[in-house]
Amino acid sequence: MLDNTGAHENRRPMRLSGLEPLIITAESNFINVGERTNVAGSRKFLRLVKEEKFDEALAIARHQVEGGAQIIDINMDDGLIDGKEAMIRFLNLIAAEPDIARVPIMIDSSKWEIIEAGLQVVQGKSVVNSISLKEGEEKFIWEATQIKRYGAAVIVMAFDEVGQADTYERRIEIAKRSYEVLVEKVHFPPEDIIFDLNIFPVATGMEEHRKNAIDFIEATRWVRENLPHVSVSGGVSNVSFSFRGNNVVREAMHSVFLYYAIQAGMNMGIVNPALLEVYDDIPKELLEHVEDVILDRRTDATERLLEFAETVKGKKKEDSTQALAWRSLSLQERITHSLVKGIDTFIIEDAEEARQSVTRPLEVIEGHLMSGMNVVGDLFGEGKMFLPQVVKSARVMKKAVAYLNPFIEAEKSEEQKALGKILMATVKGDVHDIGKNIVSVVLGCNNYEIVDLGVMVPPEKIIETAKKEQVDAIGLSGLITPSLDEMVYLAKEMERQNFEIPLLIGGATTSKAHTAVKIDTEYKNAVVHVNDASRAVTVVGDLLNANTKNAYVAKLKKDYESFREKFLNRSKQKQYVALGTARKQKFQIDWQKSNIVKPREMGIQKLEQLSLKELLPFFDWSPFFRSWDLHGKYPEILTDQVVGEQATSLFEDAQKMLRTIIDKQQLKAKGIFGLFAANTVNDDDISVRKKGKEIAVLRTLRQQLKKSQGKPNLALADFIAPEASGREDYIGVFCTAIFGADVLANSFKEAHDDYNAIMVQALADRFAEAFAEYLHLQIRSKHWGYAAEEQLTNEELIKEAYKGIRPAPGYPACPDHLEKETIWELLQVEEQIGVSLTESLAMWPAAAVSGYYFANEEAKYFGLGKITDDQVQDFATRKGISLAKARKWLHPNISS
Ligand code: SAH
Repeated sequence: MLDNTGAHENRRPMRLSGLEPLIITAESNFINVGERTNVAGSRKFLRLVKEEKFDEALAIARHQVEGGAQIIDINMDDGLIDGKEAMIRFLNLIAAEPDIARVPIMIDSSKWEIIEAGLQVVQGKSVVNSISLKEGEEKFIWEATQIKRYGAAVIVMAFDEVGQADTYERRIEIAKRSYEVLVEKVHFPPEDIIFDLNIFPVATGMEEHRKNAIDFIEATRWVRENLPHVSVSGGVSNVSFSFRGNNVVREAMHSVFLYYAIQAGMNMGIVNPALLEVYDDIPKELLEHVEDVILDRRTDATERLLEFAETVKGKKKEDSTQALAWRSLSLQERITHSLVKGIDTFIIEDAEEARQSVTRPLEVIEGHLMSGMNVVGDLFGEGKMFLPQVVKSARVMKKAVAYLNPFIEAEKSEEQKALGKILMATVKGDVHDIGKNIVSVVLGCNNYEIVDLGVMVPPEKIIETAKKEQVDAIGLSGLITPSLDEMVYLAKEMERQNFEIPLLIGGATTSKAHTAVKIDTEYKNAVVHVNDASRAVTVVGDLLNANTKNAYVAKLKKDYESFREKFLNRSKQKQYVALGTARKQKFQIDWQKSNIVKPREMGIQKLEQLSLKELLPFFDWSPFFRSWDLHGKYPEILTDQVVGEQATSLFEDAQKMLRTIIDKQQLKAKGIFGLFAANTVNDDDISVRKKGKEIAVLRTLRQQLKKSQGKPNLALADFIAPEASGREDYIGVFCTAIFGADVLANSFKEAHDDYNAIMVQALADRFAEAFAEYLHLQIRSKHWGYAAEEQLTNEELIKEAYKGIRPAPGYPACPDHLEKETIWELLQVEEQIGVSLTESLAMWPAAAVSGYYFANEEAKYFGLGKITDDQVQDFATRKGISLAKARKWLHPNISS
């Protein structure tokens, strides 16, 4: 079946080579590229390279060639290895292995220096994977010219400045443009061009994915018919992603896809031969359903295939009796299986069986359950399981423990022997705890007892509980800048009260620098910055293990000390200008010419009836995955070779919960905004007016870092017309919030379901951000109306491609949280919609966003950087607050 029957007789052959030539003509069969030698696609290969086990890494390459790969793709892009060195070394090693080196090499990297290093050492005629118009024509031309000089062929991704091609039209548009640039400007031999036209999954349940396969196929046909001599390639297994776990359907989908794509002219690609059914052997009914989906022949094709898939699921590999085959394993194996797979169906039954087999029920937790969780911990540590799975495992664990607890209490046995007891708290004034909750769950899985004090915990309570519970470590979390001070204060208190236990620091604003410079110096004992859940386990392990502890802490202290020195030296070299000088170098706008649009609707408005459904199109999903430690951009992350499967499963769970939240109206969106006349006064203040009368003053801060000649020292006030210009200008302020997440999350927690509790919080955050995006659009197009004609896609909204900005207090351009008080007074936010400010000026509910609207087309985001004490004094005077108060709130930004 892998027969290229396209009629492209006049096609010039592509000639590649390793030690032997590979000549790809119009008559050639489909060329299969092996890709197990790709660190991004193969955990095993990554590990071998990382551990410098190049012999074993070579064995993988050999295995690929023996298995029929006609080209091997080599990729060394990983943050933990020196990609350039690894590429050179591996290619040199391959060169000495004739049984591998006989095939051509595909040099795969997103970094030009790695590609070039590869081109310099590879033997034969290789393929570069890949270049694209993503960063513009100039870079594209330059790279293509180099590749031509090195005499290699090239894969061109269907990607341009706007993004990845995901429709028929976009694929064609980008391929055509790339082709013309390559052939006409670079004089690149067209037979050496291979287009990767992006294979994306179908049958995902999302309307916009329905045409993913057919668009690829038709675009392939167009490319082969209209761009002479080129080849078309792609990674086939992506197409069936939504049927992971159902190999019968996946194999059929791959075969059907290839059957049509090859007819259309796809002549090379990455296919896992083990996941391929012979087209003619696909049962008729399955074939029909699969073809309906691949070719998008019916609107209900996906649902029909999903239904049908259930009936054939595992027919060959594992039928439903076999799917439960693990139930006949030994008790321990069953418990471990449930934990690793996150299945809670049988756990109580198994826990009961275990309980009857031991003398004390506690032994079930310490024995059966913990050994299962150790497997989970190991797999997580090895990168074979991801955070969402671990949290699901914890849910199974909790369910079993909840079942066993009454028996344990009845026995009044001695305390459970955990590895250690850890107090976790989000500090006073701060309300964010997703990260803390995740770390707690993961530590809990690893046999640590967690005392979780929740959010907004005063330092006295932390100290008191630590003593009473005799904890072995304290973990503090915080998201907003004032929380950093709380952490410093706690470190001082621990020192004063002669604590000896380690202090762990985590949360979005914390950093190694802050921990080393500000916290570590206050406490003689261990202070560690840990910002990801998987590292927390090893760090805590090292800190609490009596054997390694002293050496580890000594090393930590030294490391933080040298980090601190370097950091302070670096910041000492920075130079600042006086506030007066900075003001003279403000950002200049020609106010006589600037287009100032008066808002159509001045004054304050509330939004309380908005349906959550309306916010869905404005979701930015990438941060959602990030909150689960899955890194990558949505939607590509769903098909990512490493985390794609987990990301997809997490995404499906999120969709399910979203549906329930919307159907049952479990969350409520409330927002408020105001649009006002405004002018800048005294350089840095924005005077907000109503009918000519000043009703509030927003204070802005100005950059003071010494800049190179001609570069301005910015303050947000620069984007509003100064009073002296004689022109009236305008500003907006807003707050959007999502209510109900805490109640809902707690109900899950009470049911021992941390997975869904964290999910609710993460989704509430998404709703709040989407609401801010939605409202901003309404402001631009309607209420203010300065960009009534705007037409942007969600992707463009996420990139903030619109005119104007909405800076948020606490963020880099305006790190001062105090201005939130002004917004709250101006809009009466608490009275009107019920969002309050904590003593650290965090917003409650936590899923809330507030900020300003600037409409000027020259307005842009920037970072304030450090300022000097003269500006702090000036700020205190302008605002009429004490110098001490100004220093307290601004101190993270004051140069030392
Ligand atoms: N799409 C993201 C949006 C949040 S981050 C999400 O859903 O999570 C982007 C926002 O941060 C901006 O809209 C702005 O409100 C704020 N922001 C970003 N950079 C800023 C800066 N330099 N100064 C002030 N606010 C900034």
